[in-house]
Amino acid sequence: MIIVMQNTATKEMVDHIVKMVKEHGLKTEVMHGESRVAIGVLGDRTKLEEGNVIRLPGVKEVLKVSKAYKKVSREYKVDDTVVEVAGSVKFGGDNPAVIIAGPCTVETQEQVIEIAHGVKKLGAQMLRGGAFKPRSSPYSFQGHGLDGLKMLKKAGQEVGLPVISEIMSTDYLGDFMEHVDMLQIGARNMQNFDLLKAVSKVKKPVLLKRGMSATVEEFLLAAEYILAGGNDQVVLCERGIRTFEQSTRNILDLNSLALVKEISHLPIIADPSHAAGRYDIVPALGLAGLAVGADGLIIEVHNKPSEALCDGKQSLTFETLEKFMKQAKAFI
Ligand code: PEP
Ligand code: MN
Repeated sequence: MIIVMQNTATKEMVDHIVKMVKEHGLKTEVMHGESRVAIGVLGDRTKLEEGNVIRLPGVKEVLKVSKAYKKVSREYKVDDTVVEVAGSVKFGGDNPAVIIAGPCTVETQEQVIEIAHGVKKLGAQMLRGGAFKPRSSPYSFQGHGLDGLKMLKKAGQEVGLPVISEIMSTDYLGDFMEHVDMLQIGARNMQNFDLLKAVSKVKKPVLLKRGMSATVEEFLLAAEYILAGGNDQVVLCERGIRTFEQSTRNILDLNSLALVKEISHLPIIADPSHAAGRYDIVPALGLAGLAVGADGLIIEVHNKPSEALCDGKQSLTFETLEKFMKQAKAFI
């Protein structure tokens, strides 16, 4: 339930309602938006009669949140959430789209530093690099783990870019808190509920990728876990879904991206690299993502794609990134 206050409502009126709702055993969240003050009510809705609330001083209207997800919905919070990373990068609202770029995987210190310099020069605002890799095969390169995180951090510091890396297990949360500026939850872990609950309790922004077979509702419910636990610094990521079509790795679901911008206040970015699975159509998908309103892109870039230990096939070179960044200017 959302209790929308009149423009003339006083702080005392808001406080009175919050107290009354809490006395009914429900949780509240007061939201001071640009256009209204609203009180979100969470918990068993049978405990509070809508008809009684509407009679209270200062109340304009009482809305029911009809969706399974609450806190991530636009019904619950009208204004766009802006997620800030390292005090300098801003996702969402009226901010220009953020470009995150870097290798799929941190391979060596020299490799990630060279790529960091390259992408920074071309206008990326954040550096990506996997250290704990979710590989389909146990025989594929699994990433350098903690050493990889440290190499990524060093590269980020050297060029002055905040860094993001994928966390797969709660065991390493302490290390991620120390070494990265943003936590990435990958497609395969979108419904790892222990992980979602753990990151909901920390003060660090989270990039939550959509599971390759997740519906929009499941995606938003996964984000709801993080907000419900107390962390509202969540950026969503559409990275392509599985369909009957096998000619590309995944299908970048632009419908859902546009829809999520309508039904949720959270920022959402696109990952054209994992959607495409091949470098030649990554720029086109990236532009398409921006055209439908993505708040940013996460793009895989490698200094020597033909020698990459992971996802070389879909990685852009510096040359292709340069060309793409020029084209993307029209949409940023
Ligand atoms: C990645 O970003 O390298 C990655 C593994 O992505 P996803 O979880 O979307 O497959
Ligand atoms: Mn990858």
